[in-house]
Amino acid sequence: MTTCTALIVAAGRGTRFGGPLPKQYAIWDGRPVLHHTILALRASPAINDVRIVIAVGDEAHYANATAGLGLAPPIAGGVSRQQSVLNGLESLAASAPDFVAIHDAARPFVRAEDIAACLAAADRAGIDGAILGIPLADTLKRVDAEGAISATVPRAHLWRAQTPQIFRFATLLAAHRAAAALGADEATALTDDAAVAERAGLKLVMVAGHEDNVKVTTAEDLLRTKTMETRTATGFDVHGFAPGKQVMLGGIAIAHTHTLAGHSDADVALHALTDAVLGTIGAGDIGKHFPPSDPQWRGASSDHFLKHAVDLVAARGGRITHLDLTLVCEAPKIGPHRDAMVASIARIAGVTADRVSVKATTTEGLGFTGRREGIAAQAIATIELPRS
Ligand code: MG
Repeated sequence: MTTCTALIVAAGRGTRFGGPLPKQYAIWDGRPVLHHTILALRASPAINDVRIVIAVGDEAHYANATAGLGLAPPIAGGVSRQQSVLNGLESLAASAPDFVAIHDAARPFVRAEDIAACLAAADRAGIDGAILGIPLADTLKRVDAEGAISATVPRAHLWRAQTPQIFRFATLLAAHRAAAALGADEATALTDDAAVAERAGLKLVMVAGHEDNVKVTTAEDLLRTKTMETRTATGFDVHGFAPGKQVMLGGIAIAHTHTLAGHSDADVALHALTDAVLGTIGAGDIGKHFPPSDPQWRGASSDHFLKHAVDLVAARGGRITHLDLTLVCEAPKIGPHRDAMVASIARIAGVTADRVSVKATTTEGLGFTGRREGIAAQAIATIELPRS
């Protein structure tokens, strides 16, 4: 079986990131970036082992980032990126894998399928290595020190190189050993491992990766990248019919042979939606926030309940993405009132009407709704919430 060890290069000082902490140790979603990167590589069946090269002096950061992961001790980096990778390769040489996947510590979003595709490309006959990348879509401008454009650079055949960059282990080790003899200026120009391998005349191919595989270079990148998570939750409610002339559904009054019985205005649709929205933030149910035992909610308009739930989401920095409602009844007919109901729910929830869906069904004459004893409502709320 082909073996591939991932060598994560975490020795950079990340001077562009700002602040005293190198970017690979910055906290994102509760964990250091390096921790996420290690998990992403481990999630790939193509990777057999993960080793990390760190800067001397970063041992405490490393211990914090890898706590509980059971990794081998880190490898001490060198004065340049090239020297750091060489140190990593030399430490693997005694029990060399077939392939080595060099990966940036600050690329935590690499996808398992892209790693597999990269290894498959590197493993083809006559190929020494494969690199994930993206064909350039933006037009390139060459500018002088004042920002004046001197030329438009043709972008055909140009790619942005990402990592991992996967190589046959022995050939990359030989290329890095040869590069170690270079002067400082020449070594500085070798900004990735493909450049080292190209210099050695190795045959490399590009493999189309994914835009998600960004390198966290600035604090803004970190904030921009996947800071919101999606949550969904359901709500369900039933109210029975009582003598009356209209029902409240979705915040609008609809003439009917009966009304709905309840402590408030018995708007079964808004109650189901309220529970769904509360569910997305684990905030209990409508009865917890508006106890039926409390006389102030007698006959209350249910607008207030849904608005309260939406406000709780907003207070956490979240926003409603979509509200979907299904009403279950034989009568009244919902279709003629659907658009008004959508507009009403959208107004109460503070979203545009294209984020609200109202559907209706019967139960084919079966059960309590079939016997026209009441109306049931089922709702699903989808929200975006900042990651904690
Ligand atoms: Mg209710």
